[in-house]
Amino acid sequence: MKLCIFCGSSSGDRPGYLAGARELGQAIAGRGFGLVYGGAQVGLMGAVADAALEAGGTVTGVIPQALMDREFAHPGVEDLRIVSSMHERKALMAGLSDGFIALPGGIGTLEELFEVWTWGQLGEHHKPCALLNLDGYFDRLIAFLDEVAAARFLKQQTRDMLIIASTPAEVIDACLSYQAPVGHKWLTGGKT
Ligand code: AMP
Repeated sequence: MKLCIFCGSSSGDRPGYLAGARELGQAIAGRGFGLVYGGAQVGLMGAVADAALEAGGTVTGVIPQALMDREFAHPGVEDLRIVSSMHERKALMAGLSDGFIALPGGIGTLEELFEVWTWGQLGEHHKPCALLNLDGYFDRLIAFLDEVAAARFLKQQTRDMLIIASTPAEVIDACLSYQAPVGHKWLTGGKT
């Protein structure tokens, strides 16, 4: 079982973000799961990887050549896959992983989460997509997504596909027990 983490290349302004990222890295490694992430040494990305490595976990980093210097590729990650584009990065991360968890982050994090969730909506995969809502960081985004569903731009079933949890243990458990909805009109793809 490999879990993919999307999170900020910055650490944010609250200690709870960094602490939660570390706790998630430890929990993934502690349960014997692999971590797949963007391969950087900086921000929450570095924190989740450091914690997983310290706990003896298996970590795979996927980083575009062009970001090797800007995001400081993590020197402790032995399985570092260097790819040629952002698109290749996301495709490889998605293919390697059995589930996706977004932590607080910026537009890169949001873009990664939304893309993989939309792939789920289209039936390109049937893997869990989750938000780890540390310190209420995503409260307003979650409220907005409910408004999007109420405005009928998003099916409630698709909204409900997005797991929302507030602790690392809870988000991992929810990913493990996730079942993609059946009968969704777009869920016709056969890939998992
Ligand atoms: P941020 O949340 O903006 O700090 O970015 C988190 C991570 O997402 C960083 O590793 C960014 O390089 C990465 N990122 C930003 N935009 C994209 C994209 N379009 N595709 C893949 N990764 C991205």
